Amino acid sequence: MLIVMETGHTEEQLRGVLSAVEGAKAKAHVIPGAQNTAVAVTGNVGPLDVRLFEDLPGVREAIPVSSAYRLAGREARRADTVISLAGGKVRIGGSALVVIAGPCAVESEEQTLRIAKQVARAGARILRGGAFKPRTSPYSFQGLGLAGLKILASARQATGLPVVTEILDPRSLDIVCEYADILQIGARNMQNFALLKEVGRVRKPVMLKRGFSATIEEWLAAAEYILAEGNPDVMLCERGIRTFVGSARARTTLDLNAVPVVKRRSHLPILVDPSHGTGMRDKVAPMARAAVAAGAHGIMVEVHDRPEEALSDGPQALSPEAFARLMGELRAMGPILGFTV
Ligand code: PEP
Ligand code: MN
Repeated sequence: MLIVMETGHTEEQLRGVLSAVEGAKAKAHVIPGAQNTAVAVTGNVGPLDVRLFEDLPGVREAIPVSSAYRLAGREARRADTVISLAGGKVRIGGSALVVIAGPCAVESEEQTLRIAKQVARAGARILRGGAFKPRTSPYSFQGLGLAGLKILASARQATGLPVVTEILDPRSLDIVCEYADILQIGARNMQNFALLKEVGRVRKPVMLKRGFSATIEEWLAAAEYILAEGNPDVMLCERGIRTFVGSARARTTLDLNAVPVVKRRSHLPILVDPSHGTGMRDKVAPMARAAVAAGAHGIMVEVHDRPEEALSDGPQALSPEAFARLMGELRAMGPILGFTV
């Protein structure tokens, strides 16, 4: 249910609506808008009767919403969500293109600091690096864990870049929140509903990557789990899906069509990861440029200065020089497409 308030409604009328929602044993989410305030209702068991709300003073209309993503959807909020980090110095979802870069995994303090400084110099606004790695084989490098988080914090200190890192397990929520600026939910956990609910209960922005066999509806419904718990700061990241395209051509198929589709259906920022989306170094820059041309609010790119020694995803890592070249290309695209870098 979506309750749209009259323009110029009073605070008391809004309070009346909120207590009616509470009386119906549901949860109210107030969504301020340029014209009208709306109240999205979630958590109801069974359908709610619109008549409970539409005759309340100050209510313009009550709209039954059957969508599985009523908070993530455009119906709930017309204006784009803009997520603010580092005291407003970095904004995701606005007219500035956000570039996130860094190694796949935090491997050592020297490696992370070296790469962090190089990507910062080239113009990245956020540093990435995995401390908990979701590897296909249990014998592959699993990440440095807490030591990796501490290294990310020192890289933030050295560069001023906020950091994004993956959370794999709800049991490490407190510790990851202590060190990270953005919590990443990886493709393999997109429908780990227990984890989604946990990150929904904290006040940290969340980057939700698309599962590699997920439809856009399933992805938005996964975002809804986080929003419904009360965390409004969710950004989406397209990272490629499994199709019939053979692995000799690309690791996955980067679904760039998802960018305009998501922008139409949702107000949440949409980013693209051309590194995991292709898995091959030579395809990363072309797909990054294409993602930006398609209207993505940002991109996330893996960078390594010694890819042959990388403990994960070396074949898709851009060198710092190639990353700096890509940044120059994106800067050149800005005035044509109407964004700043
Ligand atoms: C990552 O970004 O480090 C990662 C593991 O990506 P994905 O979950 O998209 O595979
Ligand atoms: Mn990786």
